[in-house]
Amino acid sequence: MIPAASFSGKRVSLFGLGGSGIATAHALIAGGAEVLAWDDNPESVARAAAAGIATGDLRTADWPRFAAFVLSPGVPLTHPKPHWTVELARGAGVEVIGDIELFCRERISDAPAAPFIAITGTNGKSTTTALTAHILKSAGRDTQMGGNIGRAIMTLDPPEPKRHYVVECSSYQIDLAPSINPTAGILLNLTPDHLDRHGTMAHYASIKERLVAGSDTAIVGVDDSWGAQIADRLERAGRQVIRISKRLPLTDGYFADGTNLMEAVHGRYSRVAFLEGIGSLRGQHNAQNALAAVVACLKVGLELGEIQAGLESFPGLAHRMEQVGRKGHVLFVNDSKATNADAAAPALSSFPSRIYWIAGGLPKEGGIEPLRGFFPRIAKAYLIGEAAPAFAATLGEAVPYEISGTLAAAVEHAAHDAASDAGGEAVVLLSPACASFDQFKNFEVRGEAFRQAATAIDGVKPIGGPR
Ligand code: ADP
Repeated sequence: MIPAASFSGKRVSLFGLGGSGIATAHALIAGGAEVLAWDDNPESVARAAAAGIATGDLRTADWPRFAAFVLSPGVPLTHPKPHWTVELARGAGVEVIGDIELFCRERISDAPAAPFIAITGTNGKSTTTALTAHILKSAGRDTQMGGNIGRAIMTLDPPEPKRHYVVECSSYQIDLAPSINPTAGILLNLTPDHLDRHGTMAHYASIKERLVAGSDTAIVGVDDSWGAQIADRLERAGRQVIRISKRLPLTDGYFADGTNLMEAVHGRYSRVAFLEGIGSLRGQHNAQNALAAVVACLKVGLELGEIQAGLESFPGLAHRMEQVGRKGHVLFVNDSKATNADAAAPALSSFPSRIYWIAGGLPKEGGIEPLRGFFPRIAKAYLIGEAAPAFAATLGEAVPYEISGTLAAAVEHAAHDAASDAGGEAVVLLSPACASFDQFKNFEVRGEAFRQAATAIDGVKPIGGPR
């Protein structure tokens, strides 16, 4: 745990008593702060009280006496409207911050040299965070990973000069971290998302921009116009900017040329790493993630050989184009995290043909129409859940399909058909383009069910294991 000593001897209010809220309260208490915590859910309040945290209704608290108000990132700060606690804090002139801000203050006061890599973007945050941490760990660096992935940040080990922090940041977390100042900040990409919580795209982008604007080195994906403009703006302001692109041959920066990751210096190119043969990093989207990780690792002093070794041993993240098994020429891939068409597109684009595609579940608006461009790659579709009839209508004559109903039946039939595909490598791909809730508790349970069904097939060799 990282004791939050920056509020030693001061009063701090805290709202949001989920896992990270409780961890943050403990960190504040360990640092010597007097905490008053609350939540709209009485069960969460009771749990915090049982864990030894002082609780009290913040509606009736003496707000001017608080040195800070710590808010959980899940609670609205601005949109659709500020939570009532935010109104009370602002009314009393109390600063509103989150756990990442507490971490930044501890790092700056105790070990400002501790390398800190912060990662944001609309898509690919978790993959890039896990990959960066994996490369650093494989190279023998003392590495802590957390934030929006895995462990709440204040539960990590305390900052030391050689301890590396790799932290995934959602826009909500950045919004609550006014002094975020990573050694290397990564902004992968920007597309409309969570606009219900951020109002406009411009506001959403401006929050993401803060992470790279505060960085010693800003690593910015320039494949979308938002990122390109941010890179230009930071450069004009005299910041160190490294551009990355998953497709453009940049004049300066790093870009992907197929599976080769290239460095460009004044228009001269050299290869720094490659992804050929790395099953966990298939696809252009993963080239973007890998570029960002490679550049960040270079920034903190890793050598190219160490970086390549880390790329090659990366196991990938569960449920995101995760290779779970193989039988001869048939690969089984679990992409259960793809809960809408946009999220399913990267997986479908990563396999050139012979895709035995399992799709369906609780339908999302727009269905699979946006995926039409990938239909020629699909050998057959196996439709499950409530979305099956609508998906069948969209596939029409373009793709052979069956309505399998359940995931178990879909896996069995797809595996059987893929086994008799004589054309080379075939993939049985669960990338459902739907939520899971009609048949499963969540996408993780759905992904596990896929893994179990696939690896239960006679002759399938598991890749990796349950996580
Ligand atoms: P996040 O943490 O930002 O949600 P993940 O790394 O968990 O992102 O990836 C979630 C899904 O987003 C993946 O299954 C893939 O479909 C897609 N994805 C991953 N990386 C990228 C990227 N760089 N650009 C676009 N889509 C991506």
